[in-house]
Amino acid sequence: MSYLYDLHTHSTCSDGQLSPKELVRLAKDNGVDVLALTDHDTLEGVSMAISAAGDDLHIVPGIELSSLWNGRNIHVVGLQVDIDCPMLASAVEQQSEIRIERAKTIAMRLEKAGILGAWDGAKHYAEGSIGRPHFAQYMIDAGYVDSFAQAFKRYLGSGKIGDVKNRWPALAEVVSWITASGGIAVLAHPDKYDLTRTKLYTLLQDFVNAGGQAMEVVSGQQEPAVTSKLLRAAEDFSLLASCGSDFHSTENLWQSPGKMSLLPKGCKPIWEAW
Ligand code: AMP
Ligand code: MN
Ligand code: MN
Ligand code: MN
Repeated sequence: MSYLYDLHTHSTCSDGQLSPKELVRLAKDNGVDVLALTDHDTLEGVSMAISAAGDDLHIVPGIELSSLWNGRNIHVVGLQVDIDCPMLASAVEQQSEIRIERAKTIAMRLEKAGILGAWDGAKHYAEGSIGRPHFAQYMIDAGYVDSFAQAFKRYLGSGKIGDVKNRWPALAEVVSWITASGGIAVLAHPDKYDLTRTKLYTLLQDFVNAGGQAMEVVSGQQEPAVTSKLLRAAEDFSLLASCGSDFHSTENLWQSPGKMSLLPKGCKPIWEAW
């Protein structure tokens, strides 16, 4: 019998809808055997997930770190990290300070664009690490936009006024924190960065040079053509393959815990290296 792995999920400790406890319950109901909680730039929820899981399912301690590479915001998932590692704790503290300063800048820019009360509004929704989705939620509830998609398209997405990314540490530095804390660095959702094949391969080369060992060959429910492309890339760089739903909210049915596409034949699943 093979286990069902979901190695990329979010909770209320970052921009997810469910508490770690509620997430564990939903994952269990969906048949997940091994679950990684990978909140943005925080380890806060991991111990809660572990205690909520008990013997029902196995929790992999994880985190999704924000970084900068060639002017782009790249996400690196760390799996099997030591949540008590002092170096990682101080790196996470630094990320959290960056998030707060960045959110203040985003709020100021949105205010200038006529979105009143952006700071208090976003803070109201952020139980843990604050990010753009909290601004999006505020803009929806205050009637400035109709949807998350519209909030990102008009204000928060790549190149828009609320896209403040220049403070994040370099990709290589973030990868080094993960490996130094005993974890495996996984390049998150490589297809989401809108890179040409040449740029994707440059990113993968830099990631490998920095000590990255795995990439997400599957993120949520994805097109077979994307899976083939990512399988090929993983093979070309001898990277282990990870898979995760990138679950945030029950409203997104294509990103539900444990419901992502299957890892393709021919790749080397990351758990075989554990
Ligand atoms: P941040 O962590 O502040 O950089 O915000 C990035 C997060 O915003 C991602 O992890 C997603 O959860 C969410 N996000 C990014 N792009 C979009 C989009 N176009 N529509 C909805 N949510 C998005
Ligand atoms: Mn997110
Ligand atoms: Mn991400
Ligand atoms: Mn994510």
